[in-house]
Amino acid sequence: ELKSIITDGDIRRALLSGFGLQSSIFVIKTNKPIVASTEDSVEQIAERFNEKIRIIPVVDKQNKVVDVYFRDKRTHIAVTNPLFDEHEIELLTECIVTGWVSSAGAFVTKFESMVADYCGTKYAVSCSSATSGLHLALLAHNIGPGDEVIVPSLSFIATANAVTYTGATPVFVDSHKTTWNIDPNLIADAITPKTKAIIPVHLYGHPADMDPINEIAKKHNLLVVEDAAEAQGAKYKNRMVGSLADIAVFSYFGNKIITTGEGGMIVTDDADIAEKCRVLRDHGMSKDRRYWHEVVGYNYRLTNMQAAIGVAQMHKIDNIISRKKEIAAEYSKHLEAIPCITLPSNMNWADNVYWLYTILIDTHLVDVNVEDLMQVLKQNGVDSRPVFPPMHKQPIYDTGLTLPLCEDISQRGISLPSAPDISDDNIANICKIIIDFIETNQVASTRL
Ligand SMILES: *Cc1c(COP(=O)(O)O)cnc(C)c1O
Repeated sequence: ELKSIITDGDIRRALLSGFGLQSSIFVIKTNKPIVASTEDSVEQIAERFNEKIRIIPVVDKQNKVVDVYFRDKRTHIAVTNPLFDEHEIELLTECIVTGWVSSAGAFVTKFESMVADYCGTKYAVSCSSATSGLHLALLAHNIGPGDEVIVPSLSFIATANAVTYTGATPVFVDSHKTTWNIDPNLIADAITPKTKAIIPVHLYGHPADMDPINEIAKKHNLLVVEDAAEAQGAKYKNRMVGSLADIAVFSYFGNKIITTGEGGMIVTDDADIAEKCRVLRDHGMSKDRRYWHEVVGYNYRLTNMQAAIGVAQMHKIDNIISRKKEIAAEYSKHLEAIPCITLPSNMNWADNVYWLYTILIDTHLVDVNVEDLMQVLKQNGVDSRPVFPPMHKQPIYDTGLTLPLCEDISQRGISLPSAPDISDDNIANICKIIIDFIETNQVASTRL
């Protein structure tokens, strides 16, 4: 039966004012509840609402609680956020209670085997980030100074930086016009006698077209590293991303499909390479003799605490991905009829996990600036994200190269809120803001 409502703040204040845990809950004086009845008019009910009301319990005639509504406290809708529940807290608590907080511990091996099983590879080696994972994957294949590695220019900077860390040179290739991933037809032209590897990226959750990439690689004897940081769970011709090339890397940064706070995973079927990655991630320490070093290694380990979160996240990855797909379908339902919006692709050979639902505004059809649209969304409490600026245009990699497709995609692209817990109503509202903005600008430009 509903007597009253108290908050954690009320309990804290009661404890501070001298009451103990054995005191009756009724020592806490609360404000009289604001009550509305089903007999009241809508106006009467509306009058009782104010900014301070956060929780609305619904009671029946006997004063029994039958439902509870929470006012949405968020003042803005994020582009994405992690999805946690008691499971992460429970496993993390286990690390703290048992003292297994560092990089040894049962959760590390458990998380590694869960990820290997999930993507169907023989080995998984956890590491501190996808960036360190890419670095290790290249080092384990002896890539270094004087070598060239082909990467798509349209990616997060880490793809190229991992190449640079080894002393090798990233060589940038333009995007495919539909998938926005590296265009396999442009790879051959970028190959030189120095080329040692290709790193296709599965951008925004859509797999790169791996068969032609692997074919070119085979022909020129090149290593293929999948940068699957944004695409765990995506499939290419019914095969899991991560199992499509020599070696692959996932990211567990806070905004990725699943997260460990910071973290990464290397997956491969090659036992020797997996072992090399393990040695290099742990200061290069010999497996046979402790504190004995034959190579210069790194401290790139994942902690047991991070892995504990990872284990809990792996239990919900399928739910997260199916919600991501629903979110994409929901956006597409509202936006597909709008002629000046290009929706994200899902090729018939692909199973896109829609890490971030990203659209292009067709600026040749409508006089709309993506930055202005982002501003309008922001004013309505909606966060959005520009598409990555191409890496060949960044001060650290700019050699005056022009890659027209990725430059165009980058200028016209915008990623919309894609957190697994966004509501369909919020998606509808976001689409309405976008459509209104485009229509207003269309009218304005026609008038001119
Ligand atoms: C996030 C990301 C990375 C880097 O991941 P970290 O775990 O933050 O190092 C690398 N490549 C791509 C494509 C990414 O999106």
